[in-house]
Amino acid sequence: MPYETADIAPQEVAETAFIPLNLEDEILRLKRDLNSEIQDLADFVGDSLELSRRAASTDRDVIVFAGVHFMAETAKILNPRKQVLLPDLNAGCSLAEGCPAPLFKAFREMHPHHVAITYINCSAEVKALSDIICTSSNAEKIIRQVPEDRPILFAPDRNLGKYLVKKTGREMLLWQGSCIVHETFSERKLLRLRAKYPRATLIAHPECDEAVLEKAEFVGSTSALLRYVQQSAEEEFIIATEAGIIHQMEKSCPGKVFIPAPPEESCACNLCPYMKLNTMEKLYLCMKNRSPEISMSDDLIGRAYKPIRETEESGSQIFPDL
Ligand code: SF4
Repeated sequence: MPYETADIAPQEVAETAFIPLNLEDEILRLKRDLNSEIQDLADFVGDSLELSRRAASTDRDVIVFAGVHFMAETAKILNPRKQVLLPDLNAGCSLAEGCPAPLFKAFREMHPHHVAITYINCSAEVKALSDIICTSSNAEKIIRQVPEDRPILFAPDRNLGKYLVKKTGREMLLWQGSCIVHETFSERKLLRLRAKYPRATLIAHPECDEAVLEKAEFVGSTSALLRYVQQSAEEEFIIATEAGIIHQMEKSCPGKVFIPAPPEESCACNLCPYMKLNTMEKLYLCMKNRSPEISMSDDLIGRAYKPIRETEESGSQIFPDL
């Protein structure tokens, strides 16, 4: 079989020597050998909730997470006895990185009476410091269940937080984090795009800037956006979220037109730069070497799982299918 060196660091080349040319076949072979579970080898990456659900329900021995670090950590929290691999440990997330655990701990100590509701896009340490972990799908329901006399602190996404304040009418103290992908949608370019495609329906993820959300016909989590385009009678959509989902929309709705909302910078694509660190070469090497692996202490896993369990027990199940 022919081999070639890949575009990877010299020490990695030394360790691994060669990359097979037919990566897809090799990855599928490793998948069978490892009894592992990987996401679509194409370019779709599901939302945090879907991936976490999948991770929690798998009966496989090894979970290979072609996503970002906090998602792989969540898979490990839900599957502490399984091996969880992430092709590139640098695949982070601006929301998770913008909320370091020591600062979040200090923030909580300044507001000891607040209930801390934290979006799942955060590190395991921050999960462990939270009372409840939510997703964009269940955040509204959870907030509505918090007694009126309990003040709420919401982290780390200020845009999702602002959207939820508006939706629920509930004042919340917001951590000032943001998703770099969702923040780059330019309002002006969006208006130009709407003028060019007057029949297109604008749909947006709640992490988007307020100005974009105000103009959207529908706002919802990644899976809600997918369901919306599948069920809608409309034919054209402008999609304001991480553009990887468009591949999935095109696959499930042939004939419909999906236009990615334009980012502020000139680059034509608004795919998450962190997600893009997961190349096929790194996926192959990760499966071959069973490394890099997500490792966390049992203590941290236990503390990070607690707010997820609290949510399940409160009836606002974060993972409703479990
Ligand atoms: S799209 Fe945004 S929220 Fe998702 S991983 Fe990338 S930076 Fe984080």
